[in-house]
Amino acid sequence: MTAQGGDLLAWLDRAISERERWATVAAVSPMGVPEGGAWQQRRDEHRGGYRIFRPDPEATPESVAFVFGESAAMHITLNDPDSVLRRCAADRKLLELHGDRCHSCPAKSATGYLDEWTQFDYGDVCPVVELLADSYGWTEGER
Ligand SMILES: [Zn+2]
Repeated sequence: MTAQGGDLLAWLDRAISERERWATVAAVSPMGVPEGGAWQQRRDEHRGGYRIFRPDPEATPESVAFVFGESAAMHITLNDPDSVLRRCAADRKLLELHGDRCHSCPAKSATGYLDEWTQFDYGDVCPVVELLADSYGWTEGER
């Protein structure tokens, strides 16, 4: 990776913040009430698709989406706002451990040898940060 560590860390912070922002917005009902709990899906035989909804034991569940494909419905329910926010929080903890700090981390050399104690200094980018960036869409063109 040719990007400077600070550039990549700033890019990752923006990418995580963007996901947190939209997950936080999606977690609030149209009435402005923060909602918790995993989203669920239910087959809608009449419409021929799947209704994604927030669970509400005291009222009719509020739909948040309708999709025709079962795989899309499953994907949405597995990536509900609470799940996304948990993932973002975990990724920020990984960045605290691996971003812009002196530490050792497993890394492969140019010959493919795994050195479990590779030393990284301030400004270096370790493999954990690279993998996190990849998961948020960091592309070869941005390197
Ligand atoms: Zn590391």
